Amino acid sequence: MLDLADVLAAQNTIKGQADHTPLVPSPFLSDKFGTDILLKLENMQPIGAFKLRGAINAVMNLPEGTKGVTCCSTGNHGRGVAFAAKLRGLRAVICMSELVPKAKVEGIQQLGGEVWVKGQSQDEAMAESRRLCAEEGLVEISPFDDPFVIAGQGTIGLEILSARPDLETLLVPLSGGGLAAGIALAAKAIKPDIQLIGISMDRGAAMAASIEAGHPVDVVEVPSLADSLGGGIGMDNKFSFALCRDLLDQTILVTEEEIYRAMQCLYYEDRIVAEGACVVGIAAMLAGKFKPNGPLATIITGRNLDMDLFTQIITGQNVQLGDYVIEGAKYVRP
Ligand SMILES: *Cc1c(COP(=O)(O)O)cnc(C)c1O
Repeated sequence: MLDLADVLAAQNTIKGQADHTPLVPSPFLSDKFGTDILLKLENMQPIGAFKLRGAINAVMNLPEGTKGVTCCSTGNHGRGVAFAAKLRGLRAVICMSELVPKAKVEGIQQLGGEVWVKGQSQDEAMAESRRLCAEEGLVEISPFDDPFVIAGQGTIGLEILSARPDLETLLVPLSGGGLAAGIALAAKAIKPDIQLIGISMDRGAAMAASIEAGHPVDVVEVPSLADSLGGGIGMDNKFSFALCRDLLDQTILVTEEEIYRAMQCLYYEDRIVAEGACVVGIAAMLAGKFKPNGPLATIITGRNLDMDLFTQIITGQNVQLGDYVIEGAKYVRP
């Protein structure tokens, strides 16, 4: 099983490539809640998201003679894998369905990744990725259920606690759970009484539902402002589920409206452009679902969002998500 030593090894492996993002106070939130509220700015990573940490650690630990890597993430993990493979001079093939927007395809290509567009669904893209593993000897890198990926994401916990050992709580965005599992593993080994709280959107929170059920469950995936938190945890989950179940003190769910307001707040008060997935911790505090009672940090996980959508949000317009409409409103200081 994974432990602190794996996270420390990962810290060494990613050094100089994906480490030491700033940990900055939010003066507005700190003042509002009467305690230090810190933001770990993973949106400042070279690919615009923390996924680089896990991807570099996984790719660097592949055996000599590996032919290349593959995955079928359309988002930040795909970027991370392409970037990491380039560092090691390996081929990276990112498989996507025909439904994926062109901007995402170009984003991966700019990082030196090959994009294979195949089929009409994520499942077909996944099948293609599996075929490449079987027939061309590529290695698939999971976005969250891989010990090296989890240990890589855990380096965020080491950096936060070495800067601020007095923190009492970490609010961590939660999807497949690689991020939360890694951070919890590191933070609880260093400071056993620290509180680790996983936060997801209330529509399609696969890890929260799985912890509740006691085993991995499938949830219906619907569009969300926190699109980087969508998707399942895998019915055959081997690592991230057990770690999240055992190490998280609590999970909290937030609504699309709460995410919308928290994105406005982070933008207007701290001038930070961030994905919906990053602000779930702030959303939980502003909605009164989590009451800070001591210094805490939350992870601003990434900045790769559609700028037209972002403009709609900060100007207070309605946002259409599939058949769901978020009623817009201009920002009012909470
Ligand atoms: C992947 C991702 C997350 C969630 O990480 P998991 O390890 O899947 O829980 C959160 N925010 C952003 C921006 C991400 O890309």
